[in-house]
Amino acid sequence: VFLIVADIIVKPISRLTKVTDELAKGNYKVRVNYEGKDEISSLYASFNQMAVRLAKQETIRQQFISDVSHEFQTPLTAISGFATILKNENLTDEQRQKYADIILFNSNRLSHLSKNMLQLTLLDGEDTSLDKSEFPLIEQLNRVIEMEDNAALSKDIEIEFIHPKKEFIIEADESRMEQVWINLLSNAIKYTNEHGVVTVEVRRTPTELQVRFEDTGVGMSQDAISHIFERFYRQDKSRTIEGNGLGLSIVKRIIDLHHYKIDVESQEDVGSVFTVYIPYEMFTGLTKKKKD
Ligand code: ADP
Repeated sequence: VFLIVADIIVKPISRLTKVTDELAKGNYKVRVNYEGKDEISSLYASFNQMAVRLAKQETIRQQFISDVSHEFQTPLTAISGFATILKNENLTDEQRQKYADIILFNSNRLSHLSKNMLQLTLLDGEDTSLDKSEFPLIEQLNRVIEMEDNAALSKDIEIEFIHPKKEFIIEADESRMEQVWINLLSNAIKYTNEHGVVTVEVRRTPTELQVRFEDTGVGMSQDAISHIFERFYRQDKSRTIEGNGLGLSIVKRIIDLHHYKIDVESQEDVGSVFTVYIPYEMFTGLTKKKKD
């Protein structure tokens, strides 16, 4: 009896202990095989699943570190390069000004990058909670449009705002939703050429509110669309347009935390439309009262 018990229970468990040790040492490739349909086989299946997930997380972690170092390296190289040039006493005032501006531009870029990373880390925390309150959506969007007005003006881009006359009171995290609109609107302006048009539109359907950001910009390929919500992803590999590829990841995370939805339609050289869907039960206010 002892030998049978040892063979059926002890052997598989000691095999599991051995591979668990391997896994703990960082070998994420280990797997265990077991024929049968008992408790041990489901334990083995769970172990294998855990190993697959850990391996995936490790790949994401390594990719993240490499992306972060790359994003930091470019502005740092520019800062140290131009600071060295600035030490040269024979520069004209104009050159000095130009190089100081480049240093300033790159340090702002670094500051923006670290702020975005911090924001993402905070949003990623397991205990991340939303600070929900009721606030007027149209008013908030108007404020965001005003904030982005200068950026649009500098490229002679017209921002149109189309919305129903009545205000919509939504229940959400006000400052985080403001961040969503800022990121979507600033992208629409950033990826639209001079003299283009950006349209912000609030639509109401029987089941939801839709907030659309439509631009007449550079658009995206189908391949890019499937990656834009990933961290550090940028379609413009040459990086001629300023950015760090974190804005839409932040948007997606905030939208997920609210249980809203977001989608994108886009065509290269025609433009893009980002739409945020806010389900009916998430907003209250005048329209809902009227319906009640
Ligand atoms: P970035 O800081 O690069 O703008 P985002 O996360 O905000 O980072 O966007 C990721 C990528 O998605 C951008 O680099 C760009 O390629 C693409 N993208 C986002 N918004 C638009 C838009 N309105 N039009 C075209 N491409 C866009």
